[in-house]
Amino acid sequence: MSAAEEVKFSMKVLIHKENSKVLFAEVGGDLADILISFLTLPLGTIVRLLVKHYGDDAPVIGSLNTLYKGLSDLDVNSFWTKTRKLMLLNPKNPFENHVGKLKLNIDDTEPIKYFACDFLKCTRTKYPVTVSMYCNTDTCACGRLINKEIDLKSIDSKQVGVFTKDTASFIISDDLHMVPNLIGSGLQILNNLGINGTDMIEEKTGSLVSRTPLTDLIFHRTQIVTNTVNSGPGTVIGQSATTSNSKNMNVKIIVQKSTCKVLLAQTREDFVDSVFSMLAIPLGGALSLTGGDSFLGSIHNLYRSFTSLSVDWHVESQFNTTQLPPKYLSKHQVFPLTEPPLYCFTSWNGYGYTRHLSSDNKSYSLANEKIHSVDLPDPKGKGSYVKGPAMFTVSDDLVVTQISAISSFSILNRLNVPLSDIEEYVVDIGIEEALSILKASLSSTSALNNGLQPFLKRHFKKPKQEN
Ligand SMILES: [Zn+2]
Repeated sequence: MSAAEEVKFSMKVLIHKENSKVLFAEVGGDLADILISFLTLPLGTIVRLLVKHYGDDAPVIGSLNTLYKGLSDLDVNSFWTKTRKLMLLNPKNPFENHVGKLKLNIDDTEPIKYFACDFLKCTRTKYPVTVSMYCNTDTCACGRLINKEIDLKSIDSKQVGVFTKDTASFIISDDLHMVPNLIGSGLQILNNLGINGTDMIEEKTGSLVSRTPLTDLIFHRTQIVTNTVNSGPGTVIGQSATTSNSKNMNVKIIVQKSTCKVLLAQTREDFVDSVFSMLAIPLGGALSLTGGDSFLGSIHNLYRSFTSLSVDWHVESQFNTTQLPPKYLSKHQVFPLTEPPLYCFTSWNGYGYTRHLSSDNKSYSLANEKIHSVDLPDPKGKGSYVKGPAMFTVSDDLVVTQISAISSFSILNRLNVPLSDIEEYVVDIGIEEALSILKASLSSTSALNNGLQPFLKRHFKKPKQEN
């Protein structure tokens, strides 16, 4: 179903008689699942869907629209392969098996496919098994071209419900707090709103009709705010803060002396990979990593209330939105993200061998099934997106361009900053600074400045004179 089609769900709502304000609604697991599915959308997918639906009038989410547009405009030769650029422009939903089962799935990203060579014996005898996400791109260890699709088995295929148990029922408040539908929870919400008499409230049957559920959810009663002053990064919730890459990146920034504002950055490919990687992070993951944001307050309430629900209401015990699909982690990116393992299973079905993939090696323990680890070759990508060594300019609103002295001058010219008023600094960007930029990018068109301001005095140092 496309985002443009009308979506209708019936629900019971409790309203305040005097001001007709909806106090809370009772929703079934099916509608709760759809709301939760928005948390699984990668940030790049949200921008892509908004632009697809609204064109030039797409609502602006901080610096993400300009980051995405800059990625789209950046020459494909700046990437190791065309595929690497496409992976960022069309980031895969790590929960695609789940959202595919929803009554409404607005994510139209092509599902992930996996391929191996067509020589079945290979998957039984050559370890690790060579599997690729791309057809006709890679070569198997046996020398054959990889061009045969293999199934990825969903671990939860026997489960009923997508994210919540299908029998579950929830109360959702107007600011998207979600709690199990129990008398006590309803009373608690009314209490919090200062309502203590039943004469003030009235029950109605309503329906949620929206042509733009994603936009309504993200921009729920909230004006788009640009250039807001941002506080520092939040704390990492629910995830271990270990990062796959604890290296710091050396970035040269141009600061306006009179205002201390960060105007732009000149950087190697490592920082650019980190900035582009933000587009592959699911919305829930971004909220979890940055500790939420007032701009996305309501949707953060949804994230927090779903992740703090008792496991009895969950279909799966984990809702890990900081796990990206396989091969999405760049070796340069610094965020505490993970990617799942993949295993190849081969079994004898009486006529021949069949094979499939799964990220769970415990689900299949049939005697005639053999489990092998999988080698996913990186298609000439060297474990990163952007080709190096190379230098780039990153603007305050995260537009990445190939470095050019002339274009840097024209940015300064556009900002009306005289050359006598600028200063160069070198800053070490690690996980803390990167998370601060990610947080600022969700709400501000000045992500670089707002993200780096908290570190301005602490970290920045003048660059050494180059000979
Ligand atoms: Zn082979």
